[in-house]
Amino acid sequence: KKLFKPFVQLDSRLNRQHEGTGLGLALVQRLADLHGGSIEVESAVGKGSRFTVNLPMGQNALAQNESVQRVEESVDLEQEEHTHAPSMEPVHHGTILLAEDNMANILTIAEYLESYGYEIVVVHDGIEAIEKAKEIQPDLILMDIQMPAMDGLEAMRRLRADSRFASTPIIALTALAMPGDRERCLTAGASEYMSKPVRLKMLVKTVRKLLSSQG
Ligand code: MN
Repeated sequence: KKLFKPFVQLDSRLNRQHEGTGLGLALVQRLADLHGGSIEVESAVGKGSRFTVNLPMGQNALAQNESVQRVEESVDLEQEEHTHAPSMEPVHHGTILLAEDNMANILTIAEYLESYGYEIVVVHDGIEAIEKAKEIQPDLILMDIQMPAMDGLEAMRRLRADSRFASTPIIALTALAMPGDRERCLTAGASEYMSKPVRLKMLVKTVRKLLSSQG
């Protein structure tokens, strides 16, 4: 019963073996809860413990969870009502090619944009990005800069040299965020530049802006 309470440790002796604030499990439980998930524990004294975190996955995971929406609302009050509830309708707003080698970023960005009605096609390096772009003619490209095989700058330069992609909106994503990065990305052909960690609402706004300016 005490395990998930904040500021509580089961071993509360002053000279206990493991220090800490007693906040870890309480935070995990709270975060799992905000995601509409849960945490379970099986434990045997002197043998060991197994913790299991359950998180909902899929297109509707975010939208189904009211507490997540409440958090978003309290964070961003100026946002209009209809823009921050991920659309549940099967509307198709366009195909986005996501070139990104980091799985956590892929899952986060793809799921978020899918909930707004975009179809996401994922590739993992610059060479795949160019091949897939030719194959599917995406409406917009999200291009990570740091990728194996061929980086995003080179991939953008090659895409821009191809008349089919001369005006395709490309958003460059980079974790470097060093002075001059923005200019390097724009020079290589990016329409917009965003530094990581990507702010998802800002990303959707930017995607919308670029797609609507395409007509
Ligand atoms: Mn990367």
